[in-house]
Order: sequence, then structure tokens, then C-alpha cells
Amino acid sequence: MNFLKPGSVVGILGGGQLAKMMSIAASTLGYKVHIYAPEADNIASEVSARFTQGSYDDLDALMKFSADCNVITYEFENIQVETLKKIEKKYVLRPNARALEIAQSRVAEKKFAEKCGAVTAHYVPISKREEIEASIAKLGADAILKSDRLGYDGKGQARIDESTNLSGAWMAVGQRDAILEEYVDFEAEFSVILTRTFEGNVIFWDSSKNVHQHGILKQSSLPAGPLIDSQRSEARKLANRIADELDYIGVLTIEFFATGNGPVFNEMAPRVHNSGHWTIEATVTSQFENHIRAITGMPLGSTRTLSDRIEMENLIGDYTDQLDNIISDNRNHLHLYGKDKIVEGRKMGHVTRLYFD
Ligand code: AMP
Repeated sequence: MNFLKPGSVVGILGGGQLAKMMSIAASTLGYKVHIYAPEADNIASEVSARFTQGSYDDLDALMKFSADCNVITYEFENIQVETLKKIEKKYVLRPNARALEIAQSRVAEKKFAEKCGAVTAHYVPISKREEIEASIAKLGADAILKSDRLGYDGKGQARIDESTNLSGAWMAVGQRDAILEEYVDFEAEFSVILTRTFEGNVIFWDSSKNVHQHGILKQSSLPAGPLIDSQRSEARKLANRIADELDYIGVLTIEFFATGNGPVFNEMAPRVHNSGHWTIEATVTSQFENHIRAITGMPLGSTRTLSDRIEMENLIGDYTDQLDNIISDNRNHLHLYGKDKIVEGRKMGHVTRLYFD
């Protein structure tokens, strides 16, 4: 077997909850984790062997960090791709910088997905305020304007309808490159989460039904229902094609709208994903463990689901008044991320509930 030997160092760029959960999985497998993050009080370094505090623009610090790691991975998309390309020339970066480069731009990822055979919402790239009217004439007034880059959890988005003040919408996306998307009249949302090894083996978890509120994931649940189940195999084929095309290593997430006309590609994340948190308790091998297995060259663990009914609920903003109820139900697994400040709209933790009868 040709995998990184125990005690090797897994580097993670980012110090949030995804990095924390990857770090726990990596240390369980016998690896040392080195976190690189700008914040001294980040939640991932609390559970990791090593920590470098540095900005994502500090190439010297990043190179020094990389030299300490046997493999480097990342928990989020908004790191300069040029920097990652420099790291990738000398060190092992998984997934590769190309995957991140495509996922950083909503326009680029839609074009790429279309090339791989995806159906996407109709869209128009926007670079100036004046282009919005003409694009609405093309797409219809029922639309969403989103910043092309740096948007997450519904941030940098504005819903557009006939009564919207377009200058306000342009301000809301930060007056920068954007994408105008037709509003998709979907029945439900789901994600395909896969892991691809460096030999090209691909394994999927089941697809949960995902419910968003104000653009933020609120709940993922299984069974996902007949519509999603009937669209899962087509969505998986596309996700597999995307992963192969990118020569991808690690966990890849693709979010879909389930519509009356089949699955519509929404977006991709070159990383573990919030809609896969239920895999920690409810499958044989979690998304975090298989990501670490893939990037360290280990064979993958089974993704088999262990319960017929599963609900994962995000704790967003002030969750404190729910705590008593959560911990007094013995089917619940509580994850609090340890963030010091409760902020409205901030993901503070999640709860996974497994039903056995
Ligand atoms: P996104 O950041 O693009 O994933 O958007 C967050 C959420 O907003 C999605 O999960 C959907 O619930 C909703 N959304 C985004 N784009 C569209 C669209 N084109 N049509 C309908 N709903 C959308």
C-alpha cells in the first residue's frame, strides 16, 4: 500500500469548522495536522498538532508552512489561485488548484459544468450596472443577481423581480463582476457528495434533501424523497464526469435543484460540505475521513448509510435557547464548533438525529 505513513503531516488552509472536522478525522487516522489561518483564535488549531498564523497573501509564510506538510488541502474556496499554483509546483496540493480556480467563479463553474454536460439555470455574466436591464429582458424579471466571486451562505446575492430597484441590487452584490441567473422553480434541493482517489476510483454518499433559509443551509434529511432519488443517478454521472475532468482528489460536492425537468446544476464546492455533516454519525465513513483517506493515498472507507431516517439541522445564530431540548433527546448528536461570538446568520454548530425505528 502506498499511502502516507502514520505521523505524516496533513496541512489544512483555513481554521473554521470544516478544517476542525477534517483535523479530527486526520488525527484519528494517525496523522499530525498543521493548520494555517489568519486568526490566532481559530477553532481548528484547538484540535490540531501545529498552527501557523499567517495571511493568505503571505507567500513566504505559506511556502514555509507547505514545506512542513506531506500533503496540503483546503477548507474553503477564497484563497488566491496564483498562490495555490505556486504551492502546487513544489508541494502536494489536493484537490488541485485548477478545481479551486473553476469553483471560485460562478460563471466559470457554470461554463465548465455545461461543458461536462450539465443543465444549469439560464444566466448572463454581468460586469457593469447598465448590463442588468438588457439581461433581464433576455432572462425574464424573475432572477437572482449574485457576485461572481467571494459569495457564500447567500451573501452577495439579490433577488430580482419586477419591483426591484436594480441599483440597490447592484450595490448588494458589491458593484463588481456578477452573474444574473434565472430563478429556478425547483421542487427540492440536493447535493451529490463524492470522493475520488488518485487512481480515479469514485465513491458516493446517499443524497440528502437540503433546505435553505435566506441562502443558508438549514436542514439536510434522508430519505430525500422519490423525486430526488429518481434524479440522483443522472446527477451522480455528471458529478463523476466533473471529478474525472478535473483529475480531482478528495471530496467534491455538487449542489443541484431537483425540478420537474430533471436535475439542474447549481454550484460546486471543491471540498467537504455542510450538507454532508450527517455522514459523521450516519454512515460507516464520514466525508471528513474519506477526504483525508483520499488525499493521503489510502483506500476509501464504505459510505453505507446506517439509519433509515436522518436529520441534520444547522444551529445558526443564537442557538442557546434550543440547547436543553437538543441535549435531552438521546437520538441527537450535538456539534458545537466553539466559536466565541454568536452572530446572526453565523453557523455555530449542528445537530444530527438518527432514527432507528
Ligand atoms: P448559492 O449560494 O448559489 O448556492 O445559493 C444559495 C441558495 O439560494 C440556493 O441553495 C437556493 O436555495 C437559492 N438559489 C440560488 N440560486 C437560485 C436560482 N437560480 N433559483 C432559485 N433559487 C436559487
